[in-house]
Amino acid sequence: MHRMLLGLICLLPLAAADGSSIRFLGKTKYLNNAHAVVTHTIDDSTKYVIQCIDTMDKYGIKATIFVSTEEDPAPEDRFFTQLQMRELWPRLRQAISNGHEIGSHSRQHPCKKPDNESFCSAAYTDYEIAGSRDDILKMTNQPYVWSWCYPCGNCANHDFIQKRIAAAGYIVARNYPNEATNGHMRPGVQTWDPNTMNAGYTQAVQHKGTAKNDTVDSAGNDATFDEVYRNGGIYNFMSHPQWLDYGPSEFYERHLARISGKKDVWYVPMGPLYAFRTLSERTTVRAMDSGRARARFEVSNDLDPKIYNGSITLDFVAPADVEVLSGGSKLPAQGDALTDRWNTEYVRREGEHLYVTVRPKTTIEFVPAGSVPPGTDVTGNWTAAYTTENGLKRQSTFALKVEGDRLTGTITSERGRAPITEGRIAGKDIAFTVVRKGNGDEVAVEYKGRVEGEVMKLSMQFGGHEVLEVTAKRVP
Ligand SMILES: [Zn+2]
Repeated sequence: MHRMLLGLICLLPLAAADGSSIRFLGKTKYLNNAHAVVTHTIDDSTKYVIQCIDTMDKYGIKATIFVSTEEDPAPEDRFFTQLQMRELWPRLRQAISNGHEIGSHSRQHPCKKPDNESFCSAAYTDYEIAGSRDDILKMTNQPYVWSWCYPCGNCANHDFIQKRIAAAGYIVARNYPNEATNGHMRPGVQTWDPNTMNAGYTQAVQHKGTAKNDTVDSAGNDATFDEVYRNGGIYNFMSHPQWLDYGPSEFYERHLARISGKKDVWYVPMGPLYAFRTLSERTTVRAMDSGRARARFEVSNDLDPKIYNGSITLDFVAPADVEVLSGGSKLPAQGDALTDRWNTEYVRREGEHLYVTVRPKTTIEFVPAGSVPPGTDVTGNWTAAYTTENGLKRQSTFALKVEGDRLTGTITSERGRAPITEGRIAGKDIAFTVVRKGNGDEVAVEYKGRVEGEVMKLSMQFGGHEVLEVTAKRVP
């Protein structure tokens, strides 16, 4: 049907290339007008989490990684997973910079089968709910903790527990119904769950339970994905890393191979997916006086951008000879890449449609192609200086290179040299990311700011620390 619609549009005569030919059609259902969504969640802080993330990364599958955050609970409180956390944090930080999400699975994984109201009331303390959230905020650079997962699937049906989870700022809480009679295998949800605090998923892809010889219905798993994909739904599957078999010929990896690499799918963790829905629903787009541009639109909502920091996609009809600015910066064109992030900004053309993916609370301007000044040429060496949170003075050297609106290069400091992994320059606006490695750890450091002649004023942020001001001067 999608293709047929496109065919019809192509038969229409081309509109005149003036401002009036730019029209806002609406917000797309999924980011970048994807046809369907694949989202994954994995549970528990076992040592298998690392192998599971490595396997997902081989296929570009993005997951919410639910961990119980307490490192060394009293023996009577220990669930078998918890002592792994110390080894997991470095890999989790790396996973975040690669587009995964860390969610909370409480601190101590309280569990009772079956649960009851008095157990839930006693187990769901501030220590477990807010404490695990704060552990994740402290140990990673993720600026929010969106997702909760009920340990053992307990307590998800209790209204008063759902309220406690929501009150701690979680926007989605995933359930795990009825493991005792295999109710957890196929909850069958193929879109957003209407109750975000007791949210279901499509199916479990794992051995049925703790016994490794429990069968895995691979054909059934694949068929369920095919059905959701065909219908343009949300394929939301969950796994316990300790109940998988690893290797290219085993069921988990074969399923990932089956569902990955599709250009019309959005690969995204569960929290950002639910955040996207709220963001998209609450955002309004209003045509403004075009001023000196060909067309201008205000994109706004009343949400806190620190929490709802993702992008949405706006569908425009626009002639080929325009470029799009968001907040004064030119948006890069995205070609044939996979849609596997939720907070980047770009435009993508499909026939007459221009899909504009932006973080809301901005002004979008359509301007004639070629009218945006090219990125300031910052190619060369710069000396950067800043003061740390503890009042220590630090220096580093930027070696930069500009090609079009792409910025590449390296940053050298006392911690060694690191390449710029993502860099953009538009006019005087500059933004780049450097991944610092050390002690088996990886931390993404983000720089953003403006260039004025021979001076660059940047903000720098990493690892959940406060934003630091950096001044860089060109080395003559
Ligand atoms: Zn669990």
